[in-house]
Amino acid sequence: MKEYQQNYRKNFSLIITFLILITASMAVAFYLAYNLTTKYVENEFVSQKIEVLEETVKPYNNFFQKKIPEISFYQGYLDSAQAVKYVDTIFRKFKFVEKIVFYDAGISNHKIPDGVKVNNFAMAPKSVYQFARDIHIDSVLLFKDNQPSSSFSLKTGDEFNKMAIKFTGFIESSDTTKTLSDDDRFNIFYTITSNKITFMNIPRREELKMYKDIMTKELPSSPVYEIDMLTFYLNPQKLIIRNTNPEIYQHISIKPLVYESLANDPELLSNDLPLSGPFSDYKLYFSSDKGYLMREINRRFLPIAGGLFLTYGVLVLIGYLIYRNLNVNSKMFKLQYDFVNNLTHEFKTPVSVIKIAGNNIRSATTLSDRERLHYGKILDEEADKLNDLMNKLLSFTQIENKAIKLKEESVNLEVFSQNLIDAYQLKYPDFDIVCKIDGIEYFKTDPVLLGSIFQNLIDNAHKYSNPGKKYLKISIKKVKKSVVMKFSDRGIGIPAGDLENIFKKFFRVQNQYNQQGSVGLGLAFCKELVNFMNGTITVQSVEGKGSEFTIELPYEI
Ligand code: ADP
Repeated sequence: MKEYQQNYRKNFSLIITFLILITASMAVAFYLAYNLTTKYVENEFVSQKIEVLEETVKPYNNFFQKKIPEISFYQGYLDSAQAVKYVDTIFRKFKFVEKIVFYDAGISNHKIPDGVKVNNFAMAPKSVYQFARDIHIDSVLLFKDNQPSSSFSLKTGDEFNKMAIKFTGFIESSDTTKTLSDDDRFNIFYTITSNKITFMNIPRREELKMYKDIMTKELPSSPVYEIDMLTFYLNPQKLIIRNTNPEIYQHISIKPLVYESLANDPELLSNDLPLSGPFSDYKLYFSSDKGYLMREINRRFLPIAGGLFLTYGVLVLIGYLIYRNLNVNSKMFKLQYDFVNNLTHEFKTPVSVIKIAGNNIRSATTLSDRERLHYGKILDEEADKLNDLMNKLLSFTQIENKAIKLKEESVNLEVFSQNLIDAYQLKYPDFDIVCKIDGIEYFKTDPVLLGSIFQNLIDNAHKYSNPGKKYLKISIKKVKKSVVMKFSDRGIGIPAGDLENIFKKFFRVQNQYNQQGSVGLGLAFCKELVNFMNGTITVQSVEGKGSEFTIELPYEI
C-alpha cells in the first residue's frame, strides 16, 4: 500500500512539475510575443509614412504629370476664353492650386517695350490674366499691351521674364535640328520653385527652327508667333492628407521643414518626411500618443495571446489526460492489490477452518454423534465455499474468453424463482424476499447462467442491507420483445459517484459490509453474463434508501 501511495505522489509531483514548466514557458512566450509586437508597431510607425506620402501627393503627381501637359494639346494657342475653361477644371479638381497666372505671349523680331530681347528675337507678353477661386472680375486682367494705362510690373513680369530668359538661352545655344529630349522638356519648359510651377507650352520642331532663324538672321518683319505660359501658385497646406494607417498615426500635418515640435512630451512619438518638388520647404509631420500606439499593440497582440492561451489550454488538457491515465493505472493497481489480498483471505479462511476441524477429528479419541455431525457440517460448508469461489473465478475466465456456450432451455420462471427464494430463506431466515411475475410463464434461456445472475444479486441485496431491513422484491415482466427483471432492495444504497464503476472488475465501494470476503467480482460477473446473453444490466440507487438493478434480456419462447 505504501508503494501505491508513493506511486500516486510521484504522479502528482510529475503533473505539478509539468504545469509549472508549461506555465513558465507560456509566461516567457507572452513576454516575447508582446515585445515583438511592440517592436513591430514601432517599426511600422517609421516605415509606413512613405505610403502616407505617396497617397497624399498622388493628386499633385496627377496634376503635374497629366494636367499641366494638357496645355500643349492647345498647341500654344490658348486664348483667354480657353484659358478660363482650362483653369476652371484645375480649380475644381486640385484644391492645392490657389492662383494661376496666364501669360498670353508672342515671339517676333519686332521692337518690344516689355519682355526679353536677344538679337532680333523678342519675346513679349500680349496680355496677362490671373485666375483664382474668389477673385473679382476686375482683377482678372493684369496687363494688356495695347492699353496705354496697363503696365507690365516687375511683380507681374517676374515669372515670365525668368522663363523667357531660360527659353531664349535655349534657342541661342540649342541645335534646333534635333528633337527635344525628355530632360530638355523638363528643364526648359518647367520652372519649379517654392510653391510655384511655371510652364511654357512646348513648341514644335519647325517653330523652334523659326525662332532660331529670327534670332540669328536678319529677316524682314515677322508675324507674331503665339506662345503661352502659365504660373501655378500652390498651397501645400491644402494638400489632402491621406492617412493610410490611422491605427498607427494619430495626427498627420504638413509643417514647414524647419518645424520642431515644442511639446517635449515623452509620451509623444513623432517622425517626419520631407515633401518634394514645389513643396520641398515642407514636410509631413506624424505624431501619436504612446497610449494610442499601445491600443494598436494590444489589438494586434490579442489574437497572438488567444493562440498562446489555446496552446496553453491544449497542453493543460494533455497534462490532465496523462494524469487521469496515470490515476486510472494507479487505481487498477490498487484494485488488483485488494483483489489478491481478498482472494487470499477468501481461500485462507475455509482452508484454516478445514485444517482445524481435521486436527480436532484426528486428535479426538472418540467422537460423539453431535461432534461428528458438527465437524461434518463445517467441512461440507467450507468445501462448498471453496468450490463456489473456484467456480466463480473459473466461469469468469471462461465467459471472458467466450469459452462457454449458451445451453438454452424453456424455464418456468415461477418454479425457477421460487426454488431460489426457498433456498435463500433457508440460508438467511432474516431475509424477506418476494417475487412478482407478470405476463410471462416460460422463458427460453440458460438456467445455469440466469441462476448465477440471480444468486449474485440476491446475495448483494442481503449483504448490503442493514439488519432488520433485509428485504428484496423481484419483479419479472414481459415488455414488448424483452423480459425485464427488477431487483429492488432497501439496503444501504450506492453513492452516485460510484454507480458508473460498480460493474467494473474488482471495484468495491468502501463500506463496512465488504471489508471481508468481497472481491468486487459479483456485479462484473453479472454484467459479463447478461452481455453474453445479449441483454443489458443497469442500476438506480439512492444512498441510505436502497438500490434497484434492472436486467433486460431478449424474449424467446
Ligand atoms: P462485492 O464482491 O464487493 O460484493 P460486487 O461486484 O458484487 O462485489 O459489488 C460491487 C460493489 O457494489 C460492492 O462493493 C458494493 O459496495 C456495491 N453493491 C453491490 N450491490 C449492492 C446493493 N444491492 N446495495 C448496495 N451496494 C451494493
